Amino acid sequence: MYAIDINTSFGVVPGDNDDHSLATLRQLMDVGGIAAALTLSLRGTRDDHVAGNRETALRCHADPRLIAAATINPLRGIGLEADVAQIAAGGFRALRFDCGSWGQLWPPDSAMFRRVLRAVAPLGLPILAPAGSISQIEALVRSVADVGLPLVLLGASYDVLAQVLAAAREYPRLALDTSRLAMPGVIETIRRELGGVTRILYGSGAPDYAPQASMNVVFRAELNDIERAAILHGNAERLLRIAAPPAPVRPAAERFAAGPIIDCHAHLHADSYRFPIDASGAATALDDCRHYGIEYMIGSSSVGIFSDMAAGNREMQALIEPVPGFLGYVVVNANDLAGSVAEMDRYYQHPKFVGAKIHCEYSQQHTGGEAMRALFVEIARHGRPVKIHNDGPGWVHAIRDLARAHPQLPIIVAHGGPRGTGAIVADCPNIYLEFCSSRATRGIIPDALAAVGPERLMYGSDQDLLHPGFVLGTYHDAGFTAAQEAQVMYQTARTLFKLTPGGGISGSAGTTAGAS
Ligand SMILES: [Zn+2]
Repeated sequence: MYAIDINTSFGVVPGDNDDHSLATLRQLMDVGGIAAALTLSLRGTRDDHVAGNRETALRCHADPRLIAAATINPLRGIGLEADVAQIAAGGFRALRFDCGSWGQLWPPDSAMFRRVLRAVAPLGLPILAPAGSISQIEALVRSVADVGLPLVLLGASYDVLAQVLAAAREYPRLALDTSRLAMPGVIETIRRELGGVTRILYGSGAPDYAPQASMNVVFRAELNDIERAAILHGNAERLLRIAAPPAPVRPAAERFAAGPIIDCHAHLHADSYRFPIDASGAATALDDCRHYGIEYMIGSSSVGIFSDMAAGNREMQALIEPVPGFLGYVVVNANDLAGSVAEMDRYYQHPKFVGAKIHCEYSQQHTGGEAMRALFVEIARHGRPVKIHNDGPGWVHAIRDLARAHPQLPIIVAHGGPRGTGAIVADCPNIYLEFCSSRATRGIIPDALAAVGPERLMYGSDQDLLHPGFVLGTYHDAGFTAAQEAQVMYQTARTLFKLTPGGGISGSAGTTAGAS
C-alpha cells in the first residue's frame, strides 16, 4: 500500500522557527510510505504567486514524486491573463487557494475571487482550499460550483464537518482531505453519509503536520482494501489525472508506539456529542484502547465539562466502574468552589478517581484569575494531580505561578500549550505536558522534549472526542528514541498516578505494537 498526499507545501516562513523545507517534506514522505505529494511553494501563497508558481514548477519538474499545485492570490488583482498562461504551460495538476491564511484575507464570495475562478475554469484543474469556517465553506462551495470545477476542502475538523457533509450532498464535485479528520469512526461516518469513500483523499498538511496522524485514522477505519486504497491514493490519481507514482521507500502503514501506553487525557459520555462523532458510552474507547495497547485510560466526563459538573461526575463513575483500567478525573469548576470541594470529597473515596480536571474555556474562568487561585488551594489540599485545559491571556505564566505556589501538586497541562511553553515552565518540576490535538502539529512535541525532558511528557488522546490513533501518529512523528518513547507513553504517567503494570485494560498491554 502507498499513499499520495494531496496537502503539502514547502519553503520558508518568517513568522516561526519551524522547518518547512522540501528536504523535510521528502524525508517525511520516505518515513510515511508517501509515494507522491501534491505540493506548492510557500512563496506563492504568502508572498508572490508568480515567483512561487515558477519555483513550484521547477522543483516538481526535477522530482517525479512531486506534483505541482499552482496558486493565485486574488488580492493582486492584476496580471491574471499572464497567470493563467503560466499555469497552462507549467504542468500544474491543481490550483490551491489559501483564503483566510496569512496574507490572504479575502472572502471566497468576493468579485475578485469569482473573477479568478472564471479565468482558470477553462484549465479544468481541481481547486483546493481550506475548510476554515462554516461561512467560508459556504462561500467557497457556491463560488466554485458556479464554474463547475471539483473542490477539495483541506483541514475539515469536527467543528465544520456537518457543514462539509451538507455541502457535499448539494455539490457532487466536493471532496475533503484527511489532515484534520481526528475523530473516532470519522471515515466510516463520512462513508455512510455520502454513500462511499470516493470523496475522501489522504492529505496530511506536511511538513507542518505529522503525516502519520491521519494515516493511522485511515488504517484503523473498517474499510475493505479497495476503499482504503481509494482514500490513500486512488481518488487522488483520478482527480489529478496522474498514473501510478514511483514506488515509496517503504509501505504506508499504521504506525504507533510499541506500548504499553497510558492515556492521561480522555473523556467519556453516555449520550452524544454536538458534532458528527459516533461515540457514546465506553465501548468505542475500550475498543481503541485494546487496539492500540493502551493499558490505562484516565478520563473526565464530557457532560461535566460541557454542562453539569455533578451530573457528569456521576455519569463518569457509572461508565468507568465496570471497566478495569478506566480511571477518572473529578471535574471541578472554579465557578463553584464549595461544589468542587464536595465533588472531590465524594469521588476521592472511590479508588478509580485519581485526580481533578479543570476546563478554563467552558467554565470561562482564566488560569490567572482569583477564582482559579482559590480552586487550586483546595485541589492541592486534596493531594491528587490536576489536569487543566488553560485559557486567558498569559496563561503559561499563570500556570507557572500556580505550580510555584503548590510545589507538591502535580499539574498536567492539557494540549501542551503553544511552542515555547516547555522553556517557560522548565523550572517547575511539578508541571507535566501532554499534546492531544486535532492539529497534528509536528514541531511542538520535540520543542517541549528539548525543554523539559521525557520525564515530564505524557501521552494524552482526547478520546472519545478525538481518535487516539490520530494523536498516536503525531507522537510517532515526533521521532522519540525507544527509551524516550517508553518514558513519555507510559512511565511518566505510571509513576505519577502510581499505576500497577499489567493491572489495567485486559487484552491491551503489549499485544498490538505498531509497525515501527
Ligand atoms: Zn479534552
